[in-house]
Amino acid sequence: MMPNAGRVCTPYGTGSLLSEVGAGGPLRYARNRCACIQSWFRRNPLWAFWKLDYQIKSDLFFGHKRRQARTPGQAAGSEYHTARLFGTAIPSNIPESTAWWKKQQKDLFAITDEAEHGLMQNMVTISHNDYCPEMLAAIRRGAFAAPTEEEKVEYLLTRVRRDRQRPRFENFAFEHVLSFQRRVQATKQHFFARNKRTPLGDLQDWWDRTEAQKRAALHAHILCWLRRRELDPAYRPLRAIPKTAVGTEQKQRPKAQVVEAPQEHQEDAVYQHAFVGRVSGEMPRPNVNGDAWGGYDVEKLRIAGLARGILLRLPYLHSCTPNYCLKDRSSCRLFFPWPEQPYQVFDDNTERVALARRLQEDDQWVVPHNLYLTMFSPSSVNVLCFDPQRGADQAR
Ligand SMILES: [Zn+2]
Repeated sequence: MMPNAGRVCTPYGTGSLLSEVGAGGPLRYARNRCACIQSWFRRNPLWAFWKLDYQIKSDLFFGHKRRQARTPGQAAGSEYHTARLFGTAIPSNIPESTAWWKKQQKDLFAITDEAEHGLMQNMVTISHNDYCPEMLAAIRRGAFAAPTEEEKVEYLLTRVRRDRQRPRFENFAFEHVLSFQRRVQATKQHFFARNKRTPLGDLQDWWDRTEAQKRAALHAHILCWLRRRELDPAYRPLRAIPKTAVGTEQKQRPKAQVVEAPQEHQEDAVYQHAFVGRVSGEMPRPNVNGDAWGGYDVEKLRIAGLARGILLRLPYLHSCTPNYCLKDRSSCRLFFPWPEQPYQVFDDNTERVALARRLQEDDQWVVPHNLYLTMFSPSSVNVLCFDPQRGADQAR
């Protein structure tokens, strides 16, 4: 079907892409189309759809043939034409299929086994920002255009409007993927270097899966294992916040349950068990009380202002939506807004780690993040941490 649908666009002459010696096969054909300087082809969603359709069908067809060769006679007499040609087994190498997810799950169970890495310390989610400099430049001036100085900070200054001035991001899927992957690559280079101390902590290993949301924006979930610490023999973990919320399901704790700071400061188990970089649920708030403005100079305060600007703009402030966190429920799935919390500790009400949020007005909607990663990336990057004394359930 493909040669007929795209006869004029075949890179190696007309007719089938397999018709000539050295024509290249489907892989080289696809690569040629995606990297072609002429752009109308890769912007065409129809072509991308047929290409994927073609690839899945040939995977099924040849996979079925190989299985038949191994066990002759089986499934040969199926009454359905499609079942006879393609079989009924779903190969696990087709992304997003049930078999594929099962394989991913098995991988994950194997990694988190206590004899292997054990439970991961945190999960980093990297999203993509359509307004990042290279996307704006590519949309306005064509492929590989360099962003101007103004475009480099535009995502921090412009508000998203629903008018016609908005760039047509949806027509630039190829540029989106390229920009996202290069951004993730840069983040990995600086924050995910194995056996090195990075702002995320002392990273030993990570496991990365990239997903597409419903509107097809890419985001990467990366599970991180950090180097374990040796526990002090005198160490006693902080007591979890007791459950007072009624019912059996996880709920944000009731307003009446106020948490007091302990007499002596102690770090949460997350930081005691492994070398984990700080995960924050607070807005940056320099305390300028005392002598010499609390030790802050103008430059530091400007950086703090920039950090606040980034958290507000990207946005790191959660807003509840009926299609996402409020779907089929009356309160936010992610337990927003969070109550005032003087120190970080596990909460038995939500069955999650409750991050410190010392000023409720400022912090109740802040998404968990690592401030260094936040400042580094032009898209929002969430960092969730897991209590080392609880099971994998809190990662659901
Ligand atoms: Zn919500």
